[in-house]
Amino acid sequence: MKKSLYFLCLFLLAGFTGLAQTKPDYNKITLAIHGGAGTITRANMTPEKEKAYRAKLEEALKTGYAVLEKGGSSLDAVEATIHVMEDSPLFNAGKGAVFTNEGKNEMDAAIMDGKTLNAGSVASVTTIKNPITAARAVMEKSEHVMMIGDGAEKFAKLHGVELVDPSYFYTETRFNQLQQIRDKEKTQLDHDGGTSSNENIFVEGKKFGTVGAVALDAYGNLAAATSTGGMTNKRYGRVGDAPIIGAGTYADNNSCAVSATGHGEYFIRAVVAHDIASLMKYKGYSVKKAAEEVVLRKLVDFGGEGGVIALDRNGNVAMPFNSAGMYRGYIKNGKPQVSIYKD
Ligand code: ASP
Repeated sequence: MKKSLYFLCLFLLAGFTGLAQTKPDYNKITLAIHGGAGTITRANMTPEKEKAYRAKLEEALKTGYAVLEKGGSSLDAVEATIHVMEDSPLFNAGKGAVFTNEGKNEMDAAIMDGKTLNAGSVASVTTIKNPITAARAVMEKSEHVMMIGDGAEKFAKLHGVELVDPSYFYTETRFNQLQQIRDKEKTQLDHDGGTSSNENIFVEGKKFGTVGAVALDAYGNLAAATSTGGMTNKRYGRVGDAPIIGAGTYADNNSCAVSATGHGEYFIRAVVAHDIASLMKYKGYSVKKAAEEVVLRKLVDFGGEGGVIALDRNGNVAMPFNSAGMYRGYIKNGKPQVSIYKD
């Protein structure tokens, strides 16, 4: 009898401690997003275009926040948020992805769970409607972290991720951007007798537009997600920073969640997202100081254009960028804030 009472007490205590640990705190729930950085200025924007971007960014913020408000996980929130932007032709992810040099849409995406440090990513996929969902499937349903091309698509199909015909991703705007760069490429090659490096032409496109989300849920867990079509005119098989864990995407409850956008080659070499987390972890920097150190100093010295969104466990958001503009926003206490330009 005494023994059973002892076990009952133990059981109740364990239950109580468990409850205390998982008691949700809705005061800190936060979500931040970006819709790409680059040459985004008032001069090359129309009022209609700006209105459309702002509306879609707000919709994405509200969608993810609704998940968090209901006690949903930061992973569910970032995935739902990214879906809104992947499904919109305004952004360079999913529908509206940029074109490769060969006139194809090849997409990359990654997701990371700050609680477990589990991560999943896909690269160079051409038939997955929402690449972020395939990345999550890799994280949760495989023993791997990254899958590419046909293999990633086979895996996605096996796990019920929606596939579409590659023509689904076509948008006239993006196709015209490719034509413009190709024309410029031709002129440059004509001018210098064919010795010009492709790198210049590639950078001149400046058609970033990747999407990203970072979230903090009521249970204090961080998550990060990034999805992109890459860069206009990219060459066959090119993979950017977005699906590279630690470069374009990273999350760790002990530091922060980061999603990047910009010229991927530089972001990979500067290991941007992990560097920000490391400055917080090893040097005790605030999320703002760490993100600015990497984006406004290290990347600038390096010559890498772009920006990041970063979020810590207390709901502090940093969104530095070294380009002319960055589509971005965050939502706390139910109020979405959206910005585009530097000022
Ligand atoms: N970072 C992406 C890439 O290089 C491009 C972007 O952010 O728009 O693939």
